[in-house]
Amino acid sequence: MRQSSHAPVDCFALLEMTAGFDIHIIGGGLAGSEAAWQLAEAGVRVRLSEMRGGGDSTPAHETDRLAEMVCSNSFRSDDAEHNAVGLLHQEMRSLNSLIIRAGDKHRVPAGSALAVDREAFAAEVTRAIEQHSSITLVRERVDSLPDHPTIIATGPLTGSKLAESIAAETGEGALAFFDAIAPIVHRDSIDMDVAWMAARWDRGSNEGDGKDYINCPLDKPQYEDFVAALIDGEKMPFKEWEADTPYFEGCMPIEVMAERGPETLRFGPMKPTGLDNPRTGRWPYAVVQLRQDNALGTLWNMVGFQTKLKHGEQVRIFRTIPGLQNAEFARLGGIHRNSFINSPRLLDGELRLKSKPNIRFAGQITGCEGYVESAAVGIMAARFARAELRDETFPPPPPETALGALLAHITGGADAETYQPMNVNFGLMPPLSGRLKREDRKKGYTDRARAALAEWLAQAKIREPA
Ligand SMILES: Cc1cc2nc3c(=O)[nH]c(=O)nc-3n(C[C@H](O)[C@H](O)[C@H](O)COP(=O)(O)OP(=O)(O)OC[C@H]3O[C@@H](n4cnc5c(N)ncnc54)[C@H](O)[C@@H]3O)c2cc1C
Repeated sequence: MRQSSHAPVDCFALLEMTAGFDIHIIGGGLAGSEAAWQLAEAGVRVRLSEMRGGGDSTPAHETDRLAEMVCSNSFRSDDAEHNAVGLLHQEMRSLNSLIIRAGDKHRVPAGSALAVDREAFAAEVTRAIEQHSSITLVRERVDSLPDHPTIIATGPLTGSKLAESIAAETGEGALAFFDAIAPIVHRDSIDMDVAWMAARWDRGSNEGDGKDYINCPLDKPQYEDFVAALIDGEKMPFKEWEADTPYFEGCMPIEVMAERGPETLRFGPMKPTGLDNPRTGRWPYAVVQLRQDNALGTLWNMVGFQTKLKHGEQVRIFRTIPGLQNAEFARLGGIHRNSFINSPRLLDGELRLKSKPNIRFAGQITGCEGYVESAAVGIMAARFARAELRDETFPPPPPETALGALLAHITGGADAETYQPMNVNFGLMPPLSGRLKREDRKKGYTDRARAALAEWLAQAKIREPA
């Protein structure tokens, strides 16, 4: 069902307008459309508010279609045996995902990736939502946090008034407007015959043993070559509407620091003082430090290495760092406009805002990254909301699955202090027990995930679509 309304909506108006609906979803992107579909298919009456088509837009969207893909037309790898996002596709198919179903239907040739005809895909999702008898799609902007059951799925470019309301509810610093992402490396790809564990001056955290960081040493020629490579490396331009992206001193891109002078990095994030290399008994000329990024200890972030270098350049240049010559990156660096909340601190295990539990969050605003992950979190928010509305319990997917790993990361597995957006990857899953050859490990994760998913589907009484 489709309605139109051009006036922004305040909370009193919302109260009246939502009478007759069980749940309100704000934002008709990848996550909000998926959440609406999941709830409506279970007979829950949904009001879906989408500001595009109602007189508002975002700087990145070009149409008023739901689930518009704002940049690439790819859902990335569809290989469910060797790739975490491919596994996530498969798990979402088991949960009757509208987004993956429409993606499969409008697939275009792209090797092992699931790439789609973006217009046909978005038209398909829009049609499915408009025609669903349990969904009322309203083209309106919402500016405040409702008091009734709600899922907020307003994405990386959330309307500014709603963002202000979220910031007021969640407190200072809990809603970021930009990401400043440092690369994250899989722990088992770091060469510990070159790197070593230590904290500066052996001062670790309270619980630690003075060995909180992984340190990668550089000698003078290596450092000079590295600085030159950063300066020469190809950078990603900012989009026109991101031109005012601030460079805070605390999260300056490393290549900008390198341009400020040859010694800047050695007195900044690459400072070697207080770090005795046990193999030489001396401080190195410069150092790259990595800090643990998730509770499982499988992912480590390169401290202070936020960057606008192109992804290929990051891999090439960062693999010249001794100890990282074989580094596998769970995430590469970037700086973008992106609204996201500090989910590990603010949300409970069912994606509810702890301070205002009638509100759930879904999609990229939770700090997941990407079309597929956003829709996946939309599915989980909807399933939790549906159970709550019916006074039922919905067991969270186990962390061995891609869905469960993503959920666990968002709702507590990640370090709240350094929380930045993240794609799904095997490093979010508990490490495999037993020793597997490197080439067998990905399959080890996906085999384990499939077994865990089957058990969970049975436990949650979910029947896979025919
Ligand atoms: C420039 C750019 C490029 C990107 N490129 C890629 C890429 O190539 N691949 C990839 O996987 N991901 C990419 N992303 C991330 C991508 O946006 C997300 O992965 C995905 O769209 C997030 O889904 P979502 O549903 O959370 O948000 P969105 O898809 O953005 O949906 C949010 C919806 O909420 C609506 N909305 C916002 N505020 C309000 C309000 N107050 N009231 C009512 N409606 C509101 C918006 O109009 C929008 O339709 C990119 C993001 C940006 C900004």
